[in-house]
Amino acid sequence: MSASNAPAPDAPSPGVYRPSALIGGSVALHVAAAAGVALLPGVWPWALGAVLADHLTLTAAGLIPRARLLGVNWTRLPGAAAARGEVAITIDDGPDPEVTPAVLALLERHGVRATFFCVGERVSRFPQLAREIVARGHAVENHSEHHLHRFSLLGPRGLRAEVATAQASIGAVTGATPRYFRAPAGLRNPFLEPVLARLGLTLVSWTRRGFDTVSVDAARVLARLTRGLAAGDILLLHDGHAARTAAGVPLVLEVLPPLLAAVRDARLMPVTLRAAVA
Ligand SMILES: [Zn+2]
Repeated sequence: MSASNAPAPDAPSPGVYRPSALIGGSVALHVAAAAGVALLPGVWPWALGAVLADHLTLTAAGLIPRARLLGVNWTRLPGAAAARGEVAITIDDGPDPEVTPAVLALLERHGVRATFFCVGERVSRFPQLAREIVARGHAVENHSEHHLHRFSLLGPRGLRAEVATAQASIGAVTGATPRYFRAPAGLRNPFLEPVLARLGLTLVSWTRRGFDTVSVDAARVLARLTRGLAAGDILLLHDGHAARTAAGVPLVLEVLPPLLAAVRDARLMPVTLRAAVA
């Protein structure tokens, strides 16, 4: 169940849900188990065991952020973007009135565009900030309405509410409809993919993350993000929920300058996810 580092496949057509092999196999297994028990009631312990094992597999697949077993999940940029030497800086959990303006100033200074996976309710609370992100040429994408810790435990209706409400909140404030979705902490379940397909959203995780919401050591966060830095990478940082250094500086502000320097030294070009498929 290892996550693949192959380039992301082309985005699926919006509105079309094509179950992954694992999901299709699970459905078939459930049908077979039910039919088996109907024909030969004595096989029920084996049928039950097979169904339970299948549920464990589905749950595990949803709890590995970079796994693709439940459907499309970008862990890298598409091949054409990688061939152009592009990488994506993604910044999650904002907008944050204290950290985001400083992040925007920093990106501006370096002439770099990034993708902000914003929380819908925070976009509604800080609309000017969300508009400022877009006005400066960055992209605001969907990171759910409330960033619930129990997101991966929600059923189809709960997931649809979390994703669709954020889609509406972000669209209303910024005037731009998100095209990409990132699950809170990257955790999800098999009911998410049909919801995303209906809204025309593509699931995006990351190539590497710095763990900058928990680590207070900027050098270690930077090392995690730059180890094996290559074209097509999707890197994850946070402006919301940012940890602080001993001096009280949000990690993202300490890490971004040397990270952007490393990207430049490697002759890579930071782009938004949208620009990577343009
Ligand atoms: Zn998050």
